[in-house]
Amino acid sequence: MAIQRPKGTQDLLPGVVEQWQGLEEQIRKICKEYGYQEIRTPMFEATELFQRGVGETTDIVNKEMYTFLDKGDRSITLRPEGTASVCRAYVENKLYGGPQPVKLYYIGPMFRYERPQSGRFRQFHQFGVEVLGADKPMVDAEVITLVWDLYSRLGLKGLEVHVNSVGCPTCRPEHKQKLQEFLEPHKEELCKDCQSRFEKNPLRILDCKNPTCQEITQGAPTTLDVLCEDCAGHFAELKSLLTAAEVVYKVNPRLVRGLDYYRKTAFEVLVEDIGAQSAICGGGRYDGLVQEVGGPQTPGIGFAMGMERVLAALKLSKEHEDEDAKEFLMLVALGEKAQSEGFAIISRLRKKGLPVSIDLLGRSLKAQLKAADRVQAKYAAILGEEEINKGIIILRDLKLGEQEELSLKDFEEQVLKQYKEDGN
Ligand code: ATP
Ligand code: MG
Repeated sequence: MAIQRPKGTQDLLPGVVEQWQGLEEQIRKICKEYGYQEIRTPMFEATELFQRGVGETTDIVNKEMYTFLDKGDRSITLRPEGTASVCRAYVENKLYGGPQPVKLYYIGPMFRYERPQSGRFRQFHQFGVEVLGADKPMVDAEVITLVWDLYSRLGLKGLEVHVNSVGCPTCRPEHKQKLQEFLEPHKEELCKDCQSRFEKNPLRILDCKNPTCQEITQGAPTTLDVLCEDCAGHFAELKSLLTAAEVVYKVNPRLVRGLDYYRKTAFEVLVEDIGAQSAICGGGRYDGLVQEVGGPQTPGIGFAMGMERVLAALKLSKEHEDEDAKEFLMLVALGEKAQSEGFAIISRLRKKGLPVSIDLLGRSLKAQLKAADRVQAKYAAILGEEEINKGIIILRDLKLGEQEELSLKDFEEQVLKQYKEDGN
């Protein structure tokens, strides 16, 4: 029996990997422009970090973590998300002691034990951003604008940005009480999860996907009804900054992040046409999290974007794939001597940044030309023992079917010139 990859994981093969590289490139570019620096944290952490940093009452911690004991009997968890790790690194490396705010981003795999389906994997990838040490609404506006800007650069269509304010420890208790009063008569009808949320975390009932729970919560008091002056002011300012930045958004009072250290802004980006898993990005302000993982009281805000879902939404066109696979020149070398000479030529051209390749299988002339066709090379350069002895090389234009003899001495210079003339 052949061994198969674990359920919910993917092999990203050539042809698809180029799409990932393209997306990563755009991400790095925009982060640089906005002044965000990359951070790389371990792929596994002490389990306690996520228990504290993501929260015991979340699905992630309750049901979805890859947790195991290592050989030293430590409880280890493959990271299910990035924010807790970034906050831990901020504290552990005393980044709070340097200039604030600290603006970071990460790209990498995350692991959640979920039922695999379209857009839902057990190993998936997130791009995320975290800003630590700044509490003004402009920070919230900046990260949401970054998401919006990235999506418009990528050409994503059919997006909805939802924003909400979940309040803070000053205003949330009042909301909790009102919500519990509202839900009390329907307590028995709520789904199992929501029944257990009722005491600990009733806010999250607003976010439940169960149709009965959704119906019950119609007309329930929202956090927006009870925001304290500080939170209301913050939210008003955020909305006006988003409008100024021409971000199109919708206020969605049912959008919640129910943990204690989530404060004020919560947001999400949805895209219409990728099926049931339509959330491609989620984020919010977490002014209590750094303290929760053992650091000084520090405001923070961030988001995480599911890269598989972004790529699904992009449905990158076939032309794009072809463009990435194109070679400029394929060196067809026949015989040992030509192969080593050819390899030296290819290596020099590659150093100059030209997309060139050479046959690695020692195939026949015909097979090599066929391979050149397959990678849509513009030219084939043919080199055999006879050509070497004469000090020449044959350059064939594969589109026009014409060929000429060039002196080996001038060959590289001429190829470079041609490459530039072709608009590269
Ligand atoms: P969902 O409601 O889809 O489970 P979530 O609330 O668990 O999402 P977050 O923890 O906010 O998601 O993660 C941010 C983003 O990461 C999501 O918006 C989504 O695009 C992506 N994501 C989350 N879980 C998965 C998964 N199992 N497979 C692929 N992408 C995922
Ligand atoms: Mg989830």
